[in-house]
Amino acid sequence: MTLDDQMKEIADELSIKYGSDYVVTLKELYAIFLKKYGTKEGSINPSDYCYNRVNNGITLKKPTVFEYLGHGKYRCLGSNYPYNGNIYHKPKGQREFIVGTCINGDRIIASKDDFFNEDTDTNIDKRQNDHRTSRNPSMKLRFEILKRDNFKCCVCGASPAKNPMVELHVDHIIPWSRGGETIEENLQTLCSLCNYGKSNMI
Ligand SMILES: [Zn+2]
Repeated sequence: MTLDDQMKEIADELSIKYGSDYVVTLKELYAIFLKKYGTKEGSINPSDYCYNRVNNGITLKKPTVFEYLGHGKYRCLGSNYPYNGNIYHKPKGQREFIVGTCINGDRIIASKDDFFNEDTDTNIDKRQNDHRTSRNPSMKLRFEILKRDNFKCCVCGASPAKNPMVELHVDHIIPWSRGGETIEENLQTLCSLCNYGKSNMI
């Protein structure tokens, strides 16, 4: 049984038993997985299986069974739930932002090249091998790019210094998925609005 199947089975069982308002914590899920399948907690990431969430490198083919509520809590909606609401992404160390919408359980990702592809993990690994650099800039490089660009969006000039709502991202000019490397010359500072207006589909 694959991890995807286990996640689907557990969420479906919980939602049938307790109703789709039932909230489970990450800790509880770890315990259920261990008891039921002997699956270790290191391989369990329920946030990959949420109607309202996408993560880096995730394939959209994964079953959706939870609503992420924050603070390690998941509502057990089960598969085939007609979920309606925003889809969020939260990169490590950054604030979460909206990347799409879920309509009657179908996820529509409106932006960001990372989430368009339906790559399998193997393809992502393979693509990684075609690069000299790793996909995510280090904190140091990220900071250097922000500093070089004067902490302003290269497209619209928005700056968190002037408007605290502005969120700056370090973006690949030639997208990683098209062979762009994570090097100074291929990175730029964009605000979240300009970043997600841009996609490598253009
Ligand atoms: Zn901008």
